Amino acid sequence: MSEIPNPIREPEVKYTQIFINNQWVNSVSGKTFPTTNSTNGKKICEVQEGDKADIDKAVEAAKKAFEFGSPWQKMDASKRSALLHKFADLIVRDRLYIASLETLDSGKAFRDSYVWDMATVATLFRHFAGWTDKIQGKTIPIDGTYFCYTRHEPVGVCGQIIPWNFPLLLFALKVAPALACGNTIVLKPAEQTPLTALYAAQLIKEAGFPPGVVNVVPGYGPTAGAAISEHPDINKISFTGSTEVGQTIMAAAAKSNLKRVTLELGGKSPLVVWKDANLDTVVEWAHQAIFFNCGQACAAGSRTYVHEDIYDEFVKKATARAKAKAFGDPFDTKSEYGPQVSQEQFDKVLELIESGKQEGANLECRGQSHGTEGYFIQPTVFSNVTEKMRIGREEIFGPVQSIIKFKDMEEIVTRANDTKYGLAAAIFTEDIDTALTFTSRVKAGRVWVNCYYKSSPAAPFGGFKMSGIGREFGEYNLQAYTEVKTVVMKTSEKL
Ligand code: NAP
Ligand code: MG
Repeated sequence: MSEIPNPIREPEVKYTQIFINNQWVNSVSGKTFPTTNSTNGKKICEVQEGDKADIDKAVEAAKKAFEFGSPWQKMDASKRSALLHKFADLIVRDRLYIASLETLDSGKAFRDSYVWDMATVATLFRHFAGWTDKIQGKTIPIDGTYFCYTRHEPVGVCGQIIPWNFPLLLFALKVAPALACGNTIVLKPAEQTPLTALYAAQLIKEAGFPPGVVNVVPGYGPTAGAAISEHPDINKISFTGSTEVGQTIMAAAAKSNLKRVTLELGGKSPLVVWKDANLDTVVEWAHQAIFFNCGQACAAGSRTYVHEDIYDEFVKKATARAKAKAFGDPFDTKSEYGPQVSQEQFDKVLELIESGKQEGANLECRGQSHGTEGYFIQPTVFSNVTEKMRIGREEIFGPVQSIIKFKDMEEIVTRANDTKYGLAAAIFTEDIDTALTFTSRVKAGRVWVNCYYKSSPAAPFGGFKMSGIGREFGEYNLQAYTEVKTVVMKTSEKL
């Protein structure tokens, strides 16, 4: 882990406008919206509120930047790589400032913003910088008098809509692969956390990307977001967020122009503790799997299944771990987590905790809000949870561990898969056969064995079932941002 420096507690907010064509502009309507500090609910600043008219302007800019003969279209692939690397260099240069701004705007623990989010942003850009000149087609052997080959061409203007739980990391996960493939972008950050995406837009300009290649329009989902998903000149949409909004976006994409869709949605991921697992190690993994980022992670290990032979001991240790958790002021580098992002999320998580109490789960640890201001929630552990309870079934997106008892493989595979989601899963065991049986039968896009959250820019990630469509990260991600064109050419050779 890198050294964690002291954060900048009051980072200056430098950019609050809409970024189109490498320029900062106000919204067409003249409207603004506030972004707030989750530690006290107070306004940080007003941000220009983009709507359909602003999205139209951004799409025009992105179309122009993509046109045949434009600087971006003509650019050598290796030069695109250099620009992506340059952007990563600027993130590294400004890491302390951006990580501080991220913590201010989202409430996430500074140690996570600095160590995890910013490092991942830079490595994602470097990873995709490596792909720019390796996006290659094939020659296909057909009838010998014909020459057949494929070109992997950029899709065109890409709409990208992101949530608030990893604001700049998800900006990077959308922008880097799209640029590596030669596309242009209109991106809407979440209304709760627009500030780091706006700062990054300025770095896009500083890195030297031509005007119109990346456009960032802050605003609300049902207005600016919907204008992206319905836009007839956007060729592809990539979305991360709730399953419900994902369905709305896919319907709008289908109805407007069949734009290509990738969706990275919610989850209720099972983490299975087999009877032979090393208890002390696995308690920590299971704890981090749910409490990381305050539980606000799509892949959170939010159903902790523990074998009946070790169940009571596990509950005792997991509860002790949660009771010892350092949380609170997100700028305190000792805090493992800060507040929930918003009043809405705070209310949602507390309501689900209440439902757990009402529906008969055992509250082992805390289960309340914390402090007198802001959206802090205590680390909470429930045992004797079942999938009939809302906390055993719904995505909570908060610091709430739900521990469930099971007895054998057949049962655990059935129960793990008994959900509309299929994002992630994990099993902890010393037995190779147990691990292989579970990994082959569980329906999830990412399965961890004896670890959790381990990831790499090169390793694909995405969901089965209602957790999404398509894969992000790595080579698989390139498919989402390219169209395959097959060229069949007759040669002059006589048959
Ligand atoms: P959300 O509504 O799905 O928000 C995600 C993004 O979609 C935001 O940029 C949002 O805009 C935008 N959006 C909302 N409605 C839209 C629409 N009709 N058309 C186009 N874009 C639209 O998520 P949320 O309300 O913030 O959180 C609700 C729940 O979603 C959470 O409790 C959690 O369960 C889940 N979630 C999952 C992830 C994930 O990583 N998969 C991330 C966040 C939330 P605004 O800026 O106006 O919000
Ligand atoms: Mg929303």
